[in-house]
Amino acid sequence: MATSLVDYSRLCLHTITTKPWSLAQCIEGYTKAGVPGITIWRMHLDPQGAKESGKMLRDSGLTVVSLARGGFFPATTAAERRQAIDDNKRAIEEAAEIGAPLVVLVCGAVPGMPLAEARRQIADGIGSCIPDAEAAGVKLSIEPLHPMYADTRSAVNTLRQANDMLSEIGSPTVGVTVDVYHVWWDPELDREIQRAGERILSFHISDWRVPTRDMLNDRTLMGEGCINIREIRGWVESTGFEGFNEVEIFSHEWWATDQAQFVEKIKKAYLEYS
Ligand code: ZN
Repeated sequence: MATSLVDYSRLCLHTITTKPWSLAQCIEGYTKAGVPGITIWRMHLDPQGAKESGKMLRDSGLTVVSLARGGFFPATTAAERRQAIDDNKRAIEEAAEIGAPLVVLVCGAVPGMPLAEARRQIADGIGSCIPDAEAAGVKLSIEPLHPMYADTRSAVNTLRQANDMLSEIGSPTVGVTVDVYHVWWDPELDREIQRAGERILSFHISDWRVPTRDMLNDRTLMGEGCINIREIRGWVESTGFEGFNEVEIFSHEWWATDQAQFVEKIKKAYLEYS
């Protein structure tokens, strides 16, 4: 198991973790709190656009870890599939503009479409975006989602499936994201983390509240749930991963609180339980 973290040098917050804040407020709040990394959700780019956001981020001195999120490739018509690919190409452009080295992919699913077909469309869609990503110097990362999201959010539900897709795509521009919330339950997790090896491009943390009251927006602070976060971090680091530990908490409960105080609670939980 990994040893406890001793400082905040590898701490990154996802802007959705402090969803009530604007991008400017996230930048100010994270900087004040000594949080060095930021992963930007596209909703936080929209009000001022990617270009202005890029300027704000460069001036801030924060490290932009990734852009969330691209994906949602499967669709029932060819026109919708093309639209999805175009949107992912826009996300790649935005990532380049804000200095994000990575676009995280929530791959998508369509209710009623066989999951194997959805995965085929996902692999095709990612393949269509690779030339743009290479030209922009931006990587694409497949984030497997917990199977409870296989209806509408992702047909890629285990790290094994993501690794299989990487083998099929066969491009160094594409890797995987390990998010403890989605994969902690998987008996093959350690083995598949070793298999992914240096293709692990990012690592997300939060905790699984018991009992969970909302399938999407009831994540909680590290240490408040049942995920073996530190053990999983140890597996990821044993592959040589030295990137940020990205705190990604969607929570109606936490969003309703004072966000500056929430950031301080995250910092405490980060050292104690991550
Ligand atoms: Zn995640």
